[in-house]
Parts: sequence; structure tokens; C-alpha cells
Amino acid sequence: MKTYNIASIPGDGIGKEVIPECEIVLQALAANQPITFAFERFDWGGDYYRQHGKMMPDDGLEPLRNKDAILFGSAGDPNIPDHITLWGLRLKICQGFDQYANVRPTRILPGIETPLRHCQPNQLDWVIVRENSEGEYAGLGGRAHQGHPIEVASDMSIMTRVGVERIQRFAFKLAQSRPRKHLTVITKSNAQRHAMVMWDEIARDIAREFPDVTWDKELVDAATARMVNRPESLDTIVATNLHADVLSDLAAALAGSLGIAPTGNIDPERRYPSMFEPIHGSAFDIMGKGLANPIGTFWSAVMMLNHLGEPTLANRLMQAIEAVTANPQLHTRDLGGNAMMKDVTNAVCEEISQ
Ligand code: NAD
Ligand code: MN
Repeated sequence: MKTYNIASIPGDGIGKEVIPECEIVLQALAANQPITFAFERFDWGGDYYRQHGKMMPDDGLEPLRNKDAILFGSAGDPNIPDHITLWGLRLKICQGFDQYANVRPTRILPGIETPLRHCQPNQLDWVIVRENSEGEYAGLGGRAHQGHPIEVASDMSIMTRVGVERIQRFAFKLAQSRPRKHLTVITKSNAQRHAMVMWDEIARDIAREFPDVTWDKELVDAATARMVNRPESLDTIVATNLHADVLSDLAAALAGSLGIAPTGNIDPERRYPSMFEPIHGSAFDIMGKGLANPIGTFWSAVMMLNHLGEPTLANRLMQAIEAVTANPQLHTRDLGGNAMMKDVTNAVCEEISQ
């Protein structure tokens, strides 16, 4: 019997709803299998902040360190500023465990409609690789003379050769593992003439290590139009922290809903646990009502299972997810349906047990 020790951190908003559902689905998947999932729940987030003045304990990384993986919901509370919730919890874990590759698959699942009128489901199949440790979200900068007319504020974007090389290499390798073997490198080196030029140069150098991968370069603004007009021309995409953040919400919307999109914050060297989460946030407008679409979290669990070396279980869960999305009766409100979150969970569990 193999036991996977999983830290589950629901966080806030609908994170508190979808993470318990994901535990249920994973337990259903483990039934009659020679594996168990041992979940340890960490109730960090907005309520913890109101009690302790911080989103998680200062030494909070310690109990996570030896876990096989982390399942994360969302950081974001209607009554706490977003930069405090995000930096105090999610980014603390991403940076603390140097999860430098954020991987975001996007596909149009069966039964789901894309807002793109001329796009067939097989014409949109992307993986966005987001640099997750530096760049625009390095956290460097400051404010002075607050509230005075002479106030100044800065956020400094930092790119290091080590940081850019490792994410480009990861992206080329991922592109190589996919049938198309094509990578698009997103840039903005026309306007940002230092770091982004280095980014381009490093991409060109790393490309030489992967002669079987074709690649091209696209400016980030042009990339938005290309995603809409020529989705089939893209496959694997690598971009900086900020660029990929924006592009992946667009990608999620083009694939039908933010509620479906999964992600993994990966430490490719496996020095630390990796963290899997839906890309959506706390969804204040629907939280506490049982309306959240849990598919983004379930798909994130598929990524987690693959990362853990359980591809058979991962495929089984993905097939169950696709069988459920194929049925419009089981679509939640974000997909134009009337189903509740529980209906989706129950249907996925039923598919698994068949
Ligand atoms: P959001 O993702 O929370 O919501 C955007 C819209 O999408 C809302 O209308 C919401 O109802 C809908 N939506 C999102 N997920 C859904 C789901 N699973 N099912 C159905 N509908 C869904 O983004 P936001 O409104 O910009 O942010 C709200 C809070 O979440 C903020 O505090 C923000 O900082 C935080 N946030 C956290 C993360 C994270 O922790 N990874 C990511 C994004 C936003
Ligand atoms: Mn985002």
C-alpha cells in the first residue's frame, strides 16, 4: 500500500468549497487501489489572518516540506487587501519552495463551448509555461512619501540568467514531449530593451539544445490577437510571470471558463513539494453558495497525479472529468448550466467507480 501525504490548503472564498470536493474525488479514485491519500488540512487564509495578523504561520513551510504535494484553493478575502493575501500565503509557498515553473494546460473539454466562433475543439490545445519565481513579481520595490504630492512608488522587474535559462529549458523540454514539438516564446523586447532582450537571447541559445523542437517568438500584445484568431498555430507557450498571468486568464476564457482551468506550481528538481491549484481566485460573487465549478480543481489533481508518477490514475480521473463535462445537465452556472458543485462532484465520483 502506497501512501501519498498531501497538504490541502483551501484558503478563502470558493477555495474552501472546491478543495474538500477534490479530496472526496481523490478518495473515490483510491478506493480499491493499492494507494491511499493522507490529507492534512491547513486552515490558513483570511480567518487565520483576522486571528493572528498573518495569513499563515512564519514557520508554516515546515509542516509542508515533507509532503508529496500540496493542493491549494485560493488566496483572497473581500475584507483584506489582495496584495496581503496573495503575498502572505500563495506566493510565500511558491517562492519558499522555489516552484519556478507554473504550468497551465488549456483545452476545450468535451461538451464545453468556446466563445471563438470558428474554432474546433481540436484547434485549441495549449500549455502555457509561466516563469514563477522572479520577473515582474519578484517583489522588489517600495514606496516613499506616502500621501504627499512627491510620493514615489516602484515595482522592479528582475530577471536573472539562471532564472530565465531554467524556465526556457523547462519549456523546450515540455514542448519536446508533446506531439507538435513547437514552442512560442512570448516577449516584449521591442519596448523593454534590457531584461526582455536577454530573455530572447537565452531562448535562442536554449533552442540549440532542442533541434527537434520548432519555435517562434511573439510580442505579448500580438499574442493575444493570435490566441483569438489563429489558436491552432500555438502549442506550448513560455512567458514571463506577468505576461503569462494575463495570457492564461484569456486562455481559460477561450476554453470556456475560468472555473475549468488547472495549474501546477512545479519544482522540476523535486527538492520541495509542488503545489496544484485551480487558476481562479476566491470568486466573492458566488462564494458560500455551492455554485462553484470544481472542475478546475479536479483537473489540477490530474496534474498532481501525473507529477506523483501515477499516470494511470491521472488518466482515469481525466476521463471521468471529460465524461461529466460532455453532459450539459452537469454544467455549473459559469458554463451556462444549472448544476451545483455537488452535482459535479457526485457525477465525477460515479464515473470513477464505473
Ligand atoms: P476570480 O477568479 O475569483 O473570479 C473571476 C470571475 O470568475 C468571477 O465572476 C467568479 O464568479 C468567476 N469564477 C471564478 N472561478 C469560478 C468557478 N470555479 N466557478 C464558477 N465561477 C468562477 O478572480 P477575481 O474576482 O479577480 O479575484 C477575487 C479574489 O481572488 C481576489 O482577492 C484575488 O486576489 C484572488 N485571486 C487569487 C488567486 C489565487 O490564489 N491563485 C487567483 C486569482 C485571484
Ligand atoms: Mn492570475
